[in-house]
Amino acid sequence: MTTPAPFGGLAQETRICAHCGYCLAGCPIYQAVGWESASPRGRMAIAAALVHGNALSAEAAQRLYECTLCGHCRTVCPTRIDTLATWLEARQRLADQSALDRLPLGRLRDNLCAAHNITGEPAENRLLWQEELSLAPALLNARPGAQVVYFVGCVAALYGQGHAIARAAVEIFHRADLDFTTLGSAEWCCGFPLLGLGLPEEAAAVARHNLAAVRALAGQAVVTTCPSCFHMWRDVYPALLGGPIGVEVMHAGELLARLIAEGRIAFRPLPGRVTYHDPCDLGRNSGVYDAPRAVLQAIPGLELVEMADHRKHARCCGGGGNLEAINPDLAGELARQRLVQAVETGATLLVTPCQQCKRTLATAARRERVRLRVLDLTETVVQALA
Ligand code: SF4
Ligand code: SF4
Repeated sequence: MTTPAPFGGLAQETRICAHCGYCLAGCPIYQAVGWESASPRGRMAIAAALVHGNALSAEAAQRLYECTLCGHCRTVCPTRIDTLATWLEARQRLADQSALDRLPLGRLRDNLCAAHNITGEPAENRLLWQEELSLAPALLNARPGAQVVYFVGCVAALYGQGHAIARAAVEIFHRADLDFTTLGSAEWCCGFPLLGLGLPEEAAAVARHNLAAVRALAGQAVVTTCPSCFHMWRDVYPALLGGPIGVEVMHAGELLARLIAEGRIAFRPLPGRVTYHDPCDLGRNSGVYDAPRAVLQAIPGLELVEMADHRKHARCCGGGGNLEAINPDLAGELARQRLVQAVETGATLLVTPCQQCKRTLATAARRERVRLRVLDLTETVVQALA
């Protein structure tokens, strides 16, 4: 390790844990699995064993990765343990012990380190979402001097289900006369999955690359449609790189709320009942709750109803923390449980400002044959543009 881990204190945090169990009720993994070893408290005991130098069984190591990094345990822990930092540092120790190759995580690491994205595809595939757009590639890709750089993110760029989100975002930005571009094929994964694997040094290298690419264009702001990219750029890049990064970082929900307030976006009515899913990395882990809701409330005819668990207690959709890579069935069960809460509201539309949440929840809705449309916030806004 040449780059220090962004967090520390695993030994101290595991000692502080009072084993009170307050974190159990809100942990989506524990709720789905029901075993102590699948709970935050059980994970603390496994992490403590790591601290004491005990060799972990493959099953115990897997438990440390079967966590979406949703952050709910950190929200409720009465001893104020930074559980997310604890899980990340524990994973770092496991990665240092070559655990990724003993778990089904080596391929994700190799994709990220060799191709700089989660799927392992060539860099030019990051432009496939642009094919049906009328906007000129020279405007969209690496245009020097553009004020805002739209950081597309792996899911919107490389998954067919995500392409509509990137297209909706740039259509809105164009209609609002925003001076924007993207990094085009020079964009790398934001590094969040590397951090989640326990590879902060590799995540720091990614941060350096992406920041240099934005600086080369003289971009003044970065906007993302992905909450994890947003959290990385705004909160983790400065920690990884040792100081302020010198560009404003916004999530699309914040930018859209600003464009609406400035009168640069106007809506026609879009009648219906909508419920809103807080992505963990936008809400609980970044503190952005109001701006995306304000965007929905600005659309005439749209009635916003909240799910039983919302804002800082929102349930995770299962899409975070690389859970899909290590246990896709468990990730699907978390999405199903969140979908049940959405259906209970009576809404016919479920909106989330996250390409990964949209993908997991839309997949669950199809699998469960639920009559509930799942859209990203940008897709909803583009449908309501006057
Ligand atoms: S709430 Fe905090 S102190 Fe209590 S068991 Fe969970 S991690 Fe430990
Ligand atoms: S971060 Fe979320 S999934 Fe992970 S242990 Fe905490 S509550 Fe459970």
